[in-house]
Amino acid sequence: MKELMTAALKTAEGTFDIQQVERVTIPAEDWVVARIKVSGICGTDLRHWKKHEPDLECKIMGHEMAGEVVEVGNAVKNVKPGDRVVIETLLGDGTCDWCRVQQYNLCPNLYKVRMETVSRAFAEYVAGPSTKFHILPDHVSFEEATLLDTFSVCLHAQQQSGLKVNDQVVVVGAGPIGIGQLQLAKIAGADVIAVDIVDSALEMARQLGATNVINSKTEDVKARIMELTNGRGADITFECAGGEKMNETLELATSVTRIGGKVIIVGGFEKGTIPMSLNWQQLQMSQIHLIFSASYAFWDIYPEMKICLDLLANGKLNAKQMITHRFPLEEINQAFETAQNKEETGALFVALQHPG
Ligand SMILES: [Zn+2]
Repeated sequence: MKELMTAALKTAEGTFDIQQVERVTIPAEDWVVARIKVSGICGTDLRHWKKHEPDLECKIMGHEMAGEVVEVGNAVKNVKPGDRVVIETLLGDGTCDWCRVQQYNLCPNLYKVRMETVSRAFAEYVAGPSTKFHILPDHVSFEEATLLDTFSVCLHAQQQSGLKVNDQVVVVGAGPIGIGQLQLAKIAGADVIAVDIVDSALEMARQLGATNVINSKTEDVKARIMELTNGRGADITFECAGGEKMNETLELATSVTRIGGKVIIVGGFEKGTIPMSLNWQQLQMSQIHLIFSASYAFWDIYPEMKICLDLLANGKLNAKQMITHRFPLEEINQAFETAQNKEETGALFVALQHPG
């Protein structure tokens, strides 16, 4: 008889159903199996919440997690059973031009490969190549480590941005990505203005280092940013809101960026072709650089997740304060509701505690 494990499977309505599924095994001798201790809910996951998506039905989702190694293949050298680890959930096909140079975040088969392997956090166990497992220092909790995926996305965006000391940065959207972006920009010597519509998120941004915060529901964002930047606008603006309101938030991001500045698009778009009304002529004449950032991989010779792990371990990144809610995995639907209704719940990052 096949061994089983608990997992939250996506239902036809887009909620989750806890079921027993076949337990993952090691398919190659350089692979590892870990028991997941904590997983997290990301903005990307929320975009699938309560949506009817036949492709994802009965699939295990989730891509932010930390756990304990339980089994390793014969060729594995970097981890052993019992090690506490964070698990990187980006895995390409290993055969394309991009994978060959460690730009696997751009692999044409990324989505397919990762969904079938490492990107399955809402379950009891996960299997992946050993290079995707990074050992946690004792003082870094599983819960904190769960935010490393988020931080890595932000670090990759920062890499794309070419951010320098003393840059005036605006972060549009103070969710987990925006707060991560803010912290990394601060570490690199920039000043950061955070913009959001949720006061609890702006309060968190202020506590974690924002020089100024602006509520775009009640304040004139553009006027305030011009006032704060000597009438120039931001050197670099990170669009970290994403989702259905991208039309507004990207427009806002471009309108507060200085002539010759950069807008980094970190927040995720909805699927398909989306009409986007931007002041294109103005953007062109101002020579604004519109830069897309996708997931993360390496920065020079270092995995971006390992860089973030080091920053977290030495106290430069604060994950603890970002975790506002915790639920057992069995209550994953309530956890998603809580994360979704952030204006009422004040949720920023919602963690799921796995049994065992
Ligand atoms: Zn590839």
